[in-house]
Amino acid sequence: MTMQGNQTKEYYERAKAVIPRGVNSNFRDWGDNTLVIKRGEGAYIWDMDDKRYIDYRLAFGPIILGHADPRVLERVTEAIKGGTIFAWTTPWEIDVAERIVRMTKCEKVRLGNTGTEVTMHTLRIARAHTGREKFLKFEGQYHGMSDYFMFNTAGTPAGVLGYRRSPVNVPTSSGIPKGIVDYIYNLPFNDVEILEEFIESHWHELAAVFLEPLMGNAAGIMPKPEFVAKLRELCTKYGIVLVFDEVKTGFRIANGGAQEYFNTQADLVTYAKSMGNGFPIAAIGGKAEVMDGIGYGQIAHGGTYTGNVAGAAAASATLEILESEPVIESINQNGKRLMEGIDEILSEANIPHAMTGVPSIFGYILGTKENPTEFRHYAAGNDGMYEELAMELIRRGVQPDSDGREPWFMSFAHDEKVIDETLNIFNDSVKVIKK
Ligand code: PMP
Repeated sequence: MTMQGNQTKEYYERAKAVIPRGVNSNFRDWGDNTLVIKRGEGAYIWDMDDKRYIDYRLAFGPIILGHADPRVLERVTEAIKGGTIFAWTTPWEIDVAERIVRMTKCEKVRLGNTGTEVTMHTLRIARAHTGREKFLKFEGQYHGMSDYFMFNTAGTPAGVLGYRRSPVNVPTSSGIPKGIVDYIYNLPFNDVEILEEFIESHWHELAAVFLEPLMGNAAGIMPKPEFVAKLRELCTKYGIVLVFDEVKTGFRIANGGAQEYFNTQADLVTYAKSMGNGFPIAAIGGKAEVMDGIGYGQIAHGGTYTGNVAGAAAASATLEILESEPVIESINQNGKRLMEGIDEILSEANIPHAMTGVPSIFGYILGTKENPTEFRHYAAGNDGMYEELAMELIRRGVQPDSDGREPWFMSFAHDEKVIDETLNIFNDSVKVIKK
């Protein structure tokens, strides 16, 4: 049975006629279960048939305060009355950069619009800074849509990744030039020994190591502290630019993101999603000694829309609220109750599972009891059961992603009442799949 009501289906058919697969991002394509959304408010979204869902996808992460937060909307509305974009800097951009410098360990900031755009520029900055061309990333980690990063992402079947000690680079798309593979190395996440051996023998080639500090595209699998520490140590020793891709973790797991949460400092950091509560805004931050290489005739960075008024005003309001109210603290409290509730219901139903992530971005892997530490462990779980349970939840009005790799996201608007309702529905849904 499809999730689409009559109205939703009608809109979806119209969309498919003029938009490939009816969606503007492949991740939104659920075939005949693809929804068309009329509106969102707080923790809820409504489809074209006015069916209401408690939203745990939150647009893949940006909605940190809740949908349509009135204070963010008001600031954007006021700001854009004075024009939307200029060939000059605006006070909004300065305000956002000052806040990022105050809230995180970054010393300098450049703004962008999307995660893909800032990871792409960050790779160039790292190459320019080091004079080296290759980089290392980790299996199951996603850094946006540009060609260089589209290898061994969470979309790659684990069965084709080869031997753990020397993973095969597998492109996630057609259309990527063959030669690009020569610039990329992939390793398993969290394996200190493999990491150390690799960097000791390849450091002279490496401009950067790109790290999603927790696996935001593979169920939220957590890093081992010794892995992050070793990575920092090796990058410092060999002059490799350590990049934290905080597109999902930034302004979500802590005001200072993963640098604060894991108590370490990256050389460069990419932000997007939560910094603007859903408006297109992103940032590259980092150490001044690396960032100051950006400039005419030195390292290219720019764009017509970078720092645009709507995005910057949204970030100004969102970051101000994060700085002045206990947003993350409250999300952590409610999210912890949700995680513990889910854990308990699955345990009572005797469904083997592993909880992953932190309350603001968490997951669970079904069919395994082992503590997962890398992408290959995720792949050993029971995807089919996860999807079946997710679809039962969605039918009843609770919407996580149907794909267990995509974590559950929490917002400030997901209050106790929302969590209670979610847990009741979770309990009912587990009973159904147990049958
Ligand atoms: N990096 C990470 C860690 C991400 O999760 C994503 C998107 N999910 C991106 C980069 C790309 O961001 P965007 O979709 O805004 O281009």
